[in-house]
Amino acid sequence: MSVTIIRGGRVLDAGTHRAELADVLIDGAVIREIGRPGLGAPAGATTLDARDRLLIPGLINAHTHAHGALVRGLAGDRVPLELLLNQASALNGNRTVEDKYLSAQLSAIEMVRKGCTACYDMFVEFPAPSIEGVHAVGRAYSDVGLRAVVAPMMADRTFYQALPGLLDAIPPPHRAGVEALRATPYTASLATCRTVLKDWPFDRARVRPALGPTIPMHCSDEFLTACRDLAREFDVGIQMHVGESRGQAVIGPKKYGKTLTAHLGDLGLLGPRFTVAHGVWLDGEDIRRLGGAGGSVAHNPPSNIRLGSGIAATRAMLEGGVRVGIGTDSPSSSDTQNMFESMRWASYLSRAGTLDYRRWISAEEAFRMATEGSAGVLGMGDQIGRLAPGYRADIVLLDLTRPDFVPLNDALLQLVFSEAGGAVDSVMIDGRLVLDRGRLVTVDEAKVRAAAESAAARLREANAGFRETARTLEPFVGAFCLALAREPYHIARVLSSEGAPGA
Ligand SMILES: [Zn+2]
Repeated sequence: MSVTIIRGGRVLDAGTHRAELADVLIDGAVIREIGRPGLGAPAGATTLDARDRLLIPGLINAHTHAHGALVRGLAGDRVPLELLLNQASALNGNRTVEDKYLSAQLSAIEMVRKGCTACYDMFVEFPAPSIEGVHAVGRAYSDVGLRAVVAPMMADRTFYQALPGLLDAIPPPHRAGVEALRATPYTASLATCRTVLKDWPFDRARVRPALGPTIPMHCSDEFLTACRDLAREFDVGIQMHVGESRGQAVIGPKKYGKTLTAHLGDLGLLGPRFTVAHGVWLDGEDIRRLGGAGGSVAHNPPSNIRLGSGIAATRAMLEGGVRVGIGTDSPSSSDTQNMFESMRWASYLSRAGTLDYRRWISAEEAFRMATEGSAGVLGMGDQIGRLAPGYRADIVLLDLTRPDFVPLNDALLQLVFSEAGGAVDSVMIDGRLVLDRGRLVTVDEAKVRAAAESAAARLREANAGFRETARTLEPFVGAFCLALAREPYHIARVLSSEGAPGA
């Protein structure tokens, strides 16, 4: 095992907001000791010079979709969640295994360059997960060197079947086409997942599998309970989008006679392995129920605003015992996998939700959510998310000579409220430098860029028909979903009073 000593840097202490000079001794992949400058190291240890560098634990992205990297910029501007889902085939169709690898690789590169060292990726394959596809995604993370949980995103209903009444809202000439669409039967997806879980070819400490039944209404109850059982059998996580948009929340009582979270609770899905992605429209009882079951939320503030989904009740989640991590969501839905921005917005947005400043999410809380909280969401809470002896050496070195850190008055506030990723200088994962003073050492980025441009051009052409269909359907889907979102619901998560009780 190689030993590395990082000398001359400042190690962030989020609790005191300070960053004192300290040396970090790393044995193989693990931090052995953090001590005063001049800390002893065995002969032959490699020295990493960290003068003018701030050391923080790598940020951890609790929710993303790496398939979005190849189609960034294509989903349009004023697009709520449902109009994004209406484009699923146009965005994700016709991909080869190599495209899936490439998209995950692009995504992993972006995250590393922005100071992220691990992610939970709900990766979609159209129309259903494949063993080669999931392996390609795992290999992409492995090759770049980013730690990841890879959860195939699945459904056994199409988007048009999932929303009660939507098909009827599409005029007959256009309806026939979407009515004929069929999602892959869940038994086929589950069989693929079983094989994937049984014969996982990667080191699970680095890249591990999970399950991603996407949205309650998009999955039959039989599918969801089968996922529950499979996750239990192989001790893996389940991540689902729950109550992301107001329209989704409104469907809960109409379809299940209860909230979406209550329905999942009754199916036995909620538990320590379970993560709600977004959870904007969870009510107080949902939050208590999820927290009581030991479950998690992956909070994605920039996406929630980009798609107009609303402001999640993160303070109530923390008080309800929910483990809260922070994510970015897909590069095709919120445009950047920048955990610094997500972390900042987790704090900022809480301030739009209440005048009571004592209930705002502090910088320290946001930082802990983006590190320790997300680590717990990935099921790696005892391994990553902190710089401490015994933890994996997932360390980001930030350049303290950049304007955001000069003068260094309050390391934590300047990190959370000012830094946006531009100061990321080096990134170490498992004791190995993946980004070395701005240079990615694991993969040839120029080659990846060229491959991405040509794959994107080919896919734009191959998916032109799907895109045309999505465009044709857009006014009908948009009008239906807007009316749905304006139906009464008992909680407020947007500043508009549309749909509020008494409005
Ligand atoms: Zn998502």
